Amino acid sequence: MEDGKPVWAPHPTDGFQLGMIVDIGADALTIEPLNQRGKTFLAPISQVFPAEDDVNKHVEDNCSLMYLNEATLLNNIRVRYSKDLIYTSVANILIAVNPYFDIPKLYSPETIKSYQGRSLGTLPPHVYAIADKAYRDMRVLKMSQSIIVSGESGAGKTENTKFVLRYLTSTYGTGQDIDERIVEANPLLEAFGNAKTVRNNNSSRFGKFVEIHFNEKNAVVGGFVSHYLLEKSRICMQSAEERNYHIFYRLCAGASEDVRNMLHLNSPDNFRYLNRGCTRYFANKDSDKQIMQNRKSPEHGKVGALKDPLLDDLGDFNRMVVAMKKIGLDDTEKLNLFRVVAGVLHLGNIDFEETGSTSGGCILKNQTSQTLEYCAELLGLDEDDLRVSLTTRVMLTTAGGAKGTVIKVPLKVEQANNARDALAKAIYSRLFDHVVKRVNQCFPFDTSSNFIGVLDIAGFDLVEAKLVGILDILDEENRLPQPSDQHFAEAVHSKHKDHFRLTTQFVEKNNDALHMSLESLVCESKDKFVRDLFENNSNSKDSKQKAGKLSFISVGNKFKGSSFIRCVKPNLKMVSHQFEGAQILSQLQCSGMVSVLDLMQGGFPSRAPFHELYNMYKQYMPNKLTRLDPRLFCKALFKALGLNENDYKFGLTRVFFRPGKFAEFDQIMKSDP
Ligand code: ADP
Ligand code: MG
Repeated sequence: MEDGKPVWAPHPTDGFQLGMIVDIGADALTIEPLNQRGKTFLAPISQVFPAEDDVNKHVEDNCSLMYLNEATLLNNIRVRYSKDLIYTSVANILIAVNPYFDIPKLYSPETIKSYQGRSLGTLPPHVYAIADKAYRDMRVLKMSQSIIVSGESGAGKTENTKFVLRYLTSTYGTGQDIDERIVEANPLLEAFGNAKTVRNNNSSRFGKFVEIHFNEKNAVVGGFVSHYLLEKSRICMQSAEERNYHIFYRLCAGASEDVRNMLHLNSPDNFRYLNRGCTRYFANKDSDKQIMQNRKSPEHGKVGALKDPLLDDLGDFNRMVVAMKKIGLDDTEKLNLFRVVAGVLHLGNIDFEETGSTSGGCILKNQTSQTLEYCAELLGLDEDDLRVSLTTRVMLTTAGGAKGTVIKVPLKVEQANNARDALAKAIYSRLFDHVVKRVNQCFPFDTSSNFIGVLDIAGFDLVEAKLVGILDILDEENRLPQPSDQHFAEAVHSKHKDHFRLTTQFVEKNNDALHMSLESLVCESKDKFVRDLFENNSNSKDSKQKAGKLSFISVGNKFKGSSFIRCVKPNLKMVSHQFEGAQILSQLQCSGMVSVLDLMQGGFPSRAPFHELYNMYKQYMPNKLTRLDPRLFCKALFKALGLNENDYKFGLTRVFFRPGKFAEFDQIMKSDP
């Protein structure tokens, strides 16, 4: 940092502010903000950074800035964001800031076309550039590639993942409907696995790894989705202002009269699993009124007050049904899904009360008997068996060393509530497994040469090493004689338990375990669909076939390159054109971006393109030298000045200098004409 040059100093909300150093203390600097002359404040030396000469300048690759530090990175991203340039490269990592509005033409077919086959850096940074690089690397190196999309909730991971999938299938597909199916599978997955949270109206509550498989001619042949860790607690309870999984509300809002009657559905207000914690429609709130007025689709007559003004459940239901049809689900399959969803809703409405007798057990509240009937009917269970299984648990006694006798232990109200919720979670999460499995059947393939995997994963404190660790597990999994996504999920889970717990804040209770009598009850359901949900996944014929296929295609597959997309959430209000510097900075720090910069800075932090050096210094040089092209010009110049070769390095388009060496060189040039 030089005298008289502005520096970036900490700012509580913007992250950094421009200022001048007016005094240097032992470990703190006295800074005078540029926009508040006369006022000063103290800042730790480690948090003050040199600023670029022109702070309004922005660059596509952050590494082409003169000073690489967190302040110049933040400023570069800020300036670009203000011009709707949401993508920025930092070397080969892509930073994507969520714009919260559709930027015209950013993802148009023309844009897709323009990135095809173009090397990184030749076009503005874009998620398509990363996708194309992965594809070209796969083709050239003949090795599978992975793209890791990380960021906090609402940062845009899932949207960017979808852009990658759409790019690959539309650019390198075979033009058959399999390409479309890979994209159309998303609305279905999201209906069952996404929910509105305070951080994202469409938050994925599961991690996913989507593989796009290519044949030996490098054309798309199919896809495969692995999922892990669906958030189960949400099925029975949501925090204030949050919702359960979309499907529940959509079904209530959009099912036809026939289906509503068949499933005994009514307004979401009437279901315990939906009416606690969720956002209510505040008829007196102006913003909500406005949104409701703008909504074109007529509200379903029977949808009550529990209707999120930000979400269009009816419209979303209709879109979901179209997507289901496109990926090939017939009416029976669709109804099966809906029936189980409704069954879970009714199950949640079953209430218990103390018997009052000395045995201390509980019974179903009288008014819930109809609910019990509906639930049993929809899930193919015997009403009495369900009642007994919810209020008692079977235990084996081993009294006196005798062979165990079965006894029924009555449950207390609290225990019965837990048993009911555990059953709901078990059913719904099995249903979600089924949805993923069904989705995978939509883009089957027999053989594949390589694949590009896209990991859409919540949170940053999963550092790179951990992510790559997950890919290694997947790789290992694929080498097993009989790999399965179930096993993969377990492996990931066991190795990364703490991180997942931390990042996604799953608050699973210990009492999730389904007690024996409930488990056998659903396993023996009269309804084949429900029964199949509980058939052990890894033993089913279907998954064995799939597993066999997986191992076949993946033998010897080793991930070569990984590309990284770091998504950034610009503000907590989820609105466009608002850049909250301080919290963006903390995301950049958590995502490891700042350490990447530090690494670069430690080596050759200052850099200048050949042509800039040429233009800057040609006036000081004899004519003969200026006839050289900029790169040679720089080489000749450095030789002539006798610069130490260890102090700089020549890149493809620019020179890199060791710390302080560029300033030294600049001084020599200007002081000694
Ligand atoms: P995450 O998966 O990281 O939680 P999402 O991908 O679901 O976040 O993004 C949250 C919301 O932000 C989306 O529903 C969408 O409204 C908006 N969004 C994200 N990325 C973009 C983008 N590139 N362009 C426009 N809107 C976006
Ligand atoms: Mg998501």
